[in-house]
Amino acid sequence: MILSGKCGIQSRDCTLSQGVMPLSMDTKNLHITDLFKNFAKVQQELLRDCQSEMRQPVNGRFDRLLAHRSFQADSSVLRRALLDPYFPLGMLEQTVFADVDGMRFYINKRRHDLEPGLTEELEKWSEAFLRIRLDIQKLFDPETITCIPLDGKRHQLPTGQWCTLCGVCCQIGGVPPLPPAGVRYPDYWNTYLAGGAVNNQQLCPFLFQYFGEQRFFCAIHNIKPIACRQFGEEECRRRLVERGLHQYHVTHA
Ligand code: SF4
Ligand code: SF4
Repeated sequence: MILSGKCGIQSRDCTLSQGVMPLSMDTKNLHITDLFKNFAKVQQELLRDCQSEMRQPVNGRFDRLLAHRSFQADSSVLRRALLDPYFPLGMLEQTVFADVDGMRFYINKRRHDLEPGLTEELEKWSEAFLRIRLDIQKLFDPETITCIPLDGKRHQLPTGQWCTLCGVCCQIGGVPPLPPAGVRYPDYWNTYLAGGAVNNQQLCPFLFQYFGEQRFFCAIHNIKPIACRQFGEEECRRRLVERGLHQYHVTHA
């Protein structure tokens, strides 16, 4: 059954945003970075617009992304992760797929020699996301473990607080994985939290996105590591200033 609502129809092509290449374009030689950005941009728009909660929108650019020659993993993993309303597409755009302008270097993420590494990283992020999502449900109470219940429904985001949920403080290589008293993490959570989810981890895999909004939240907020609990307003301001030293450039395909 096709649900009503702005995005109730699966596989529809929404009104094209500026900077998104048309579906009719030949994309077989496109770089993985462009394919990902095209997909991510439209998917986030669909998620933001979607009125129906339990049905996830799919945009026509997804199959083109999956068809990229460098993917090795089972495509169902990518499908389940990348179409989930909490998968951090916007954060991957800001980190993994963004050019990096350091003090003494520049990394262009459209370099062809980077393609195998980028596709592998996308696969690993997808696996990590699904694994964490499943374990949150199996081992903890998904209604209370985070500040936003992970039930696929829209809930009001926290308001009236200094944190804007920009997610910048969770763009990190790792944190000491020490849990609060009375909590025990699965062993692999310790590895992920400490920075071992991918090589050169630059994003915490517990950071989820809220329905395509540029709002990111900790999926384990109420049991997050002590180091994260101690991160306060002053550290936040410092972190946002320091971000300028290593600038990520989000360019559109
Ligand atoms: S950097 Fe500051 S505002 Fe952004 S998510 Fe972290 S604590 Fe919140
Ligand atoms: S555990 Fe939560 S608060 Fe800590 S870095 Fe990861 S996403 Fe951010």
